[in-house]
Amino acid sequence: MKSYQLVAPNAPLELVETETPEPQGTEVLVKITACGVCHSDLHFWHGYYDLGDGKKMTLEDRNISLPFTMGHEPVGEVVAFGPDAKSDAEVGKTYMVFPWTGLW
Ligand SMILES: [Zn+2]
Repeated sequence: MKSYQLVAPNAPLELVETETPEPQGTEVLVKITACGVCHSDLHFWHGYYDLGDGKKMTLEDRNISLPFTMGHEPVGEVVAFGPDAKSDAEVGKTYMVFPWTGLW
């Protein structure tokens, strides 16, 4: 599995290849084909959120550690379901993943 990870603030993303995971429990494995980048991702890349008046909230403040794969607005092909997953989605079809509720 390939991912582009943030390894240091303001640095180019780094291509990382890892073992493709087996979905466990209610997990769904999705092969991501495209992913939006929103302003949250830019804050991650900078290493902090600018709260104004010189105040910053760091990734550490949010319990986020590097390396980190950005992107929470993905689209991709469903590849496999964990044994406890309950979904109307089908393997081989393309879905948008809404990170707070699942596949659409
Ligand atoms: Zn977002």
